[in-house]
Amino acid sequence: MAQLEILEYPDPRLRRPAAPVIEFDSGLARLASDLLDTLYANAGIGLSAPQAGNLRQVLVMDLSGSASEPQVFVNPEIIARAAPGLVEESCLSVPGVTGNVLRATRVRVRAADTAGLPFERDLEGMAAVCLQHEMDHLAGKLFIDRLSLFRRLRLRAAENRTRRRQTGTAAEASG
Ligand code: ZN
Repeated sequence: MAQLEILEYPDPRLRRPAAPVIEFDSGLARLASDLLDTLYANAGIGLSAPQAGNLRQVLVMDLSGSASEPQVFVNPEIIARAAPGLVEESCLSVPGVTGNVLRATRVRVRAADTAGLPFERDLEGMAAVCLQHEMDHLAGKLFIDRLSLFRRLRLRAAENRTRRRQTGTAAEASG
């Protein structure tokens, strides 16, 4: 069992696209297992390899709430999407921020397991949303990119305030 460090926004490594997995070796199986350990330790529902600084197209999910239904997707690709809806999201890499994102609530995904065996799976509701969120990470995208312009401007303002406070170049801002 190994827990990985989760990178946090605005770490630039979260903005790099991940590369497809070519070698389905024991290192890949260990990565998936470590990602699941890290997911459970942080009480999340989904985690991608880039969030742990590993730029491979691997993501894990478990929506059971009891660590009993681990799902691993290698090189995932969405081949059908339906039923768009606004869903509230948060992210282990963007602590303290939640926001509504427009996502398909039904998807069909094609991926491989850690042995390289291809499969297709239909996902609904939070599982579908979680998969799309984690696949964004594989492309170097964050859910905050998908928030309304108004929300993003407010987040940026809060970020700038934090930065000024850290560098001590400005008086305390309001709010
Ligand atoms: Zn995330």
